[in-house]
Amino acid sequence: MAITPLMPVYPRCEVRPVRGEGIWLYGENGEKYLDFASGIAVNLLGHGHPHLTKAIQQQAETLIHVSNLYGSPQGEALAQRIVDLTFADTVFFTNSGAEAVECAIKTARRYHHAGGNPHKNELITFKNAFHGRTMATISATDQEKLRDGFAPLLEGFKVVEFDNLDAALGAIDGRSSGFLIEPIQGEGGIRPASREFLHGLRKACDEQDLMLVFDEVQCGVARTGHLYAYEYYGIAPDILATAKGIGGGFPLGACLATEKAARGMVIGTHGSTYGGNPLAMAAGQAVLDVVANDEFLAEVRAKGERLRSALEQMIPNHSHLFDSVRGVGLMLGLKLKSDSRAFVNWLRSEGILLVAAGENVVRILPPLTIDEADIRTFVDGLSAAADKYRLPDAA
Ligand SMILES: *Cc1c(COP(=O)(O)O)cnc(C)c1O
Repeated sequence: MAITPLMPVYPRCEVRPVRGEGIWLYGENGEKYLDFASGIAVNLLGHGHPHLTKAIQQQAETLIHVSNLYGSPQGEALAQRIVDLTFADTVFFTNSGAEAVECAIKTARRYHHAGGNPHKNELITFKNAFHGRTMATISATDQEKLRDGFAPLLEGFKVVEFDNLDAALGAIDGRSSGFLIEPIQGEGGIRPASREFLHGLRKACDEQDLMLVFDEVQCGVARTGHLYAYEYYGIAPDILATAKGIGGGFPLGACLATEKAARGMVIGTHGSTYGGNPLAMAAGQAVLDVVANDEFLAEVRAKGERLRSALEQMIPNHSHLFDSVRGVGLMLGLKLKSDSRAFVNWLRSEGILLVAAGENVVRILPPLTIDEADIRTFVDGLSAAADKYRLPDAA
């Protein structure tokens, strides 16, 4: 048989991690990697964080799973905590980001259905967006590489240019249910939307009774130095999808909504077998124990500034290779003057793990628990690797 037992949908590289500790990953044969990719913004507390590990261990010994047919003291407690910390009045727990976005899309459609406007079922979305790999979430983007071969796609999405308010407002018509947007595009190349743009969307939604849906699967949960990026922008969405960092590595996502936005999500309209199980709730609580306080968030902002300025100072030494730094907090992107994928491959061979993104950007998404020494270790390692790097076309 030619096909591999693991369905060959990923171009898996030679790194084969079996153990992790803080910012370090260890391979099968003891190879050591500096991990500033964090499972793509997932391992917020680094690898093997004692508080998260202990919370999962203790909960596993107590109760792992029960059906959502029963009452959930664990789910109620985490939902209440999230409600207290955010714009939301209600929370649906999922196991992944795409499922959280799915729930957000359903909530937006159902809002208008419940208001007697079932024809208002089209979300305006944005070029180069990434919302996940399910049928609905690939339908919500224009990225051909995600959609190729999966027709027919789901109806009800209209894609317009990112960060262009005229284009976004011009796309509104009688079928519009609202906007679905990553306030900071992750996969698309660490592209923060402008403040004016998001405020413009908020205003249009208020005036025309549309839902503003934020996909904060990558930029949420303290990554920007704010618990959610909407706080950085100074506006609140009606519906928000969160995942990745919220479980610190345990599969957990959530769809947050205001009471008004969730008016259609009544008994029987949605569900999940695993969503919100006690083990996931324990992981989510443990992550919030660490990140959801003003001191921690201020530290993330300060560390983000230090890392950014260290990178900016390094750029002139490698001006043939690096262009600029972008992003917010510890969600940073280093824009290259050449193919970012080739450079990420080179870094890996030098023992540094980062992730490529669109627009020749290298994503720098360290654990939020890094310290000053980790920042120095990373920037020194990156600089040394860049010194040795030969551009593919110059090779
Ligand atoms: C990763 C990501 C998703 C999908 O999350 P999964 O857990 O892989 O389903 C959705 N939206 C954004 C912005 C993401 O970065």
